[in-house]
Amino acid sequence: MDNKNWLHLDFKGIVPSERKICEWLDFFRECGFERVIFEYDCRVQWDCWPNAADPRLTKDEVRRITAHAEGIGMEVIPLVQIHGHLDWLLKHEQYAHLRENGFVNELCPQHPDASALIMAWIDEVLELHPNIHYIHLGADETWHLCTCEKCLEIVERDPVRGKMGVYLDHVGGICRHVIARGLRPMIWADMFCTEGRTDLARELPSETILVNWQYTGGGPYRTTAELKTSGLEVYGASAIQCAWYEHWWCAVNNPAMRLENVLSWNQSGFNVIHTTWGRPGNLWNLYPAWHGSVGIFIAAADPGRWSKHPWKPFFDRLGPALLRSWPHELKPLIEEVKTLPVSGSIEEEGRKWLELGLRYQLMVKNYLGVELGKKCMKVTRRYIGYDPASYRKYYETPLEVLASELAEWTVEMREFFQRNELSDMDEFVEEKAAIFG
Ligand SMILES: [Zn+2]
Repeated sequence: MDNKNWLHLDFKGIVPSERKICEWLDFFRECGFERVIFEYDCRVQWDCWPNAADPRLTKDEVRRITAHAEGIGMEVIPLVQIHGHLDWLLKHEQYAHLRENGFVNELCPQHPDASALIMAWIDEVLELHPNIHYIHLGADETWHLCTCEKCLEIVERDPVRGKMGVYLDHVGGICRHVIARGLRPMIWADMFCTEGRTDLARELPSETILVNWQYTGGGPYRTTAELKTSGLEVYGASAIQCAWYEHWWCAVNNPAMRLENVLSWNQSGFNVIHTTWGRPGNLWNLYPAWHGSVGIFIAAADPGRWSKHPWKPFFDRLGPALLRSWPHELKPLIEEVKTLPVSGSIEEEGRKWLELGLRYQLMVKNYLGVELGKKCMKVTRRYIGYDPASYRKYYETPLEVLASELAEWTVEMREFFQRNELSDMDEFVEEKAAIFG
């Protein structure tokens, strides 16, 4: 086992320009990451899937970004999904015939064209990446596995392997395809765990790496040990950025849960891929830009460095304060974040994102105070009366004040996107403003 630090970047969310991605790669390399997984999703115009992509990077840009990574000593690993999480493709009527039982997110592996199309896609990806040693094939969260008639027929004929037999025939076949091209495949291992069939993982080719992603609490987990019994190599995966309950109305992820997750996986003794997701799923809202996770990147790559980093004491207080999100706690944090010492432009912009994120959090809480408080007090007033002065002191930020704060925030956030050459500015800003409507 080599203990290199792996970083995963999901391009289905906000994507920086080629120039800015190269600056980020320099930052990641300085942090200590040595391997980087690019999850392409819909962000490259794939020849084999006409009319489906929503590209942010051209193939020439991907080639130059990859060359830049390799030039600074970072190995690149492409990731494309081969079974589930294909919403970006299957949402189009042109590809509806490939859906599993009509579900938009999942391919039917029994469709006669499915494997050949996926293999052609992989070959197109490999043309972009002539120097790689690994490829990640996704294969997680195939929630609708074997719900179509064709797949159910196979399950009936093979009750011992059941649904996972269909999964293994498809995923194993694609693994063999990339092994024949000299690569080691890796897949997310959750389907073996959720189906309670870790015993079947041994059917995959021995070169396959199983990745046990667990984003809550600290690893390793019971499933990590179960997957190990397959005899295949098992990696862990943490999340630097992933779904959390409040992802709709936050512009900054709570760092406490992310830090606990990445730091505990780093102590597990397993190789770990630190994932950075762009949205909760292909057809969901945008997560914050990478700038919102600067502290977590530093901690995931080098926990020793993070323990002495000047931001750490602030983050230790930020986590619990964000969980409560009480305005009287957020206000001083917004002032304090502006004074954090920074080293380099990524930290400087990361600090600005944190400030904007905290200001947004405060606006949301003040808005809830106004709107929900008003409804509650309407009843209270009817029963016992109402003291407008004390109510206003604690809860009532006038809506026109909130509207002007939001307008100012929107201008600054747009400037942030432009200065940092980030994609999807309108979508992000409009999503965040929409909740005040
Ligand atoms: Zn099917």
